[in-house]
Amino acid sequence: MPFSDFHGNPDVVLRLREMLAHDRFPHAVIFTGARGAGKYTLAQMVAKAMNCLNRPEPGGLFTAEPSDELLDFCGKCSNCLRIAQADDLESRCAEAVEARDALRETDKRETRILVQTFPDVLVIPPDPPQMMIKVDQVRHVIHSIYYRPSEGRHKVYIFTDSAFMKEAANALLKILEEPPEFATIFLLAENASSLLPTIRSRCVTLHLAPLPLAEIERDLSHRPDWNAKQRQLVARLSGGAVGRARSFDLNAYLAARNDALTVLKTAIDANDHSNLFKATESYRAGAEGKQKTDALIAALYGLLEDILFLRSNTPEMLRNVDIEPELRKLAQSASFEWITTAVDRISEVQSGMRRNLLRSLSLDALALALEN
Ligand SMILES: [Zn+2]
Repeated sequence: MPFSDFHGNPDVVLRLREMLAHDRFPHAVIFTGARGAGKYTLAQMVAKAMNCLNRPEPGGLFTAEPSDELLDFCGKCSNCLRIAQADDLESRCAEAVEARDALRETDKRETRILVQTFPDVLVIPPDPPQMMIKVDQVRHVIHSIYYRPSEGRHKVYIFTDSAFMKEAANALLKILEEPPEFATIFLLAENASSLLPTIRSRCVTLHLAPLPLAEIERDLSHRPDWNAKQRQLVARLSGGAVGRARSFDLNAYLAARNDALTVLKTAIDANDHSNLFKATESYRAGAEGKQKTDALIAALYGLLEDILFLRSNTPEMLRNVDIEPELRKLAQSASFEWITTAVDRISEVQSGMRRNLLRSLSLDALALALEN
């Protein structure tokens, strides 16, 4: 799994490899890009290249390709393999959360979610239930970052989200003011503007741009269970993010979109919201409630945006291409003002959900958001 396995953004990968080869890697790097653009994958690759035990050295005996001048990683040595255990971040985080849930109440409160599969690489995900980086997590970084690497050559810290509690951001700033030479901090953000300007100014920012649709569709050719039309739909729904496209759950999406369409039609056709609540009744109860509600709201947001694209005569931006006629009908029956207001309000509900407000509360907020 060398750098050549990274899909897209060759200029960013080249720059990283050059910095690695010249041993001039910055102490703090911000990767920006949409969810699934490859920010975490790339940070993991750099962590491996920094600590690989038999990395192909630049300028070796057989340097036929220019890329051979650049540093890589083997993906097979024990360091690479141990770091790779954290490649599947979602599973590692779920395990950590489960382990914390099993603790006694007092210990639970003091335990923060961290992922570490190799002593010199630490992954810091947002801590549930608020899903933010907390000061105790940053303190954990402060306690370890000034010690030299124990088994590798270079320490790597990966903050996988840019939502920092205020105190946590200030603590991070302290580290960035005086980083040790043997450590690199990665900050992953959908938008750099979500980080404090004082943090941004101490980091090198690299952007992972979305890939062209055709390229994503080509990449999806290894999904024989999808036909060409489905691949086209997934490519558009993933917004050019190859990671999102590869792991896209099309059936779950279509189910959520179906409900979202019902909600939308109810809201546009009548002021009576009883149908809306009928459609979302099953969302309130059960353990999967939150996930389902999240998916519904995301689908609803996407549909409203699509309707907005149709209203503003930019149909080429449309993502739900398979139901274009239906969306056109909806676009004609709602006013432009109503649609833009609904998009704004749904976006507010969505960020409320992210902060883990009560599900039912958010569903009521949803109904209010769509009020004419
Ligand atoms: Zn290796």
